[in-house]
Amino acid sequence: MDNAIQRTTDIITPGSTVLVLSGAGCSTASGLGDYRNKQGLWKRAQPITGQTFLNDTAARQRYWARSCVGWPSFSKAEPNQAHLALAMLEASGTVQHLVTQNVDGLHQRAGHQSVIDLHGVLSTLSCVACQAQQSRDDFQQRLLESNPWLSTLSAAYAPDGDADLDTDETVLQQINQMHIPGCTNCGDLMKPDVVFFGESVPKDRVDLAMQQLREADVLLVAGSSLMVFSGFRFCRDAHQRKQPIVIFNQGVTRADDLATLRIDGDCGELLTELANKISKVDPSVATNFESRSL
Ligand SMILES: [Zn+2]
Repeated sequence: MDNAIQRTTDIITPGSTVLVLSGAGCSTASGLGDYRNKQGLWKRAQPITGQTFLNDTAARQRYWARSCVGWPSFSKAEPNQAHLALAMLEASGTVQHLVTQNVDGLHQRAGHQSVIDLHGVLSTLSCVACQAQQSRDDFQQRLLESNPWLSTLSAAYAPDGDADLDTDETVLQQINQMHIPGCTNCGDLMKPDVVFFGESVPKDRVDLAMQQLREADVLLVAGSSLMVFSGFRFCRDAHQRKQPIVIFNQGVTRADDLATLRIDGDCGELLTELANKISKVDPSVATNFESRSL
């Protein structure tokens, strides 16, 4: 560990600026990683595409049934040491900006200031026609009011969020008759404010993130295998410009060949070590961070 952090601080030196690209590995310790992989609310082997969500009522009913079951545990997730260490690195001035592929809002909850939610957030929905917004909590309540049987499902499946609803005949019949609430303003379809599989990240969002990357000295990837192109392209861009890339991730990544330094390990532990080492160089950083209200 010491050696890994030493090699990191050979690249992230005092005064250098860092852009962080974070992924699912940052949220695993908050209980979201497994949930995503097993239950796959938005990252299944065959995730629902934006087109299917918009055009296929039955698919949309299945999506909301799963989502309704998973939401209580998802929305209660708390930031972990990875989020806190990154917020501390931001307070120290080392991390300038953070771009996340996660849709859980946990970086902001940990006190991180400059965050781009590359793939959007699950906490709100927007109407596809009039763009009126609604919180996911309010929508959850409307889902349960329109389909009271969903609350019995939530109780049965919620603890580990690992619900394969498709295999249960009775549940399937209920899902077929499920009523999905529409926009309270115009009645049209409500869609989560996330980038669905098969959709593109909005161009202005990518442009801003890319601009922030180019202003930084180092790209630090935290907890992402970079299998999705929207994240991988930051590594490709950095590599082409000979910008150093440091990767903290458990397991292989798509950008291993492009990295200046790759450390295989728990990104929460690695980031905490890094934040501690940097705050030793400048002890005021830790004090400043602790005095901030989270
Ligand atoms: Zn509307």
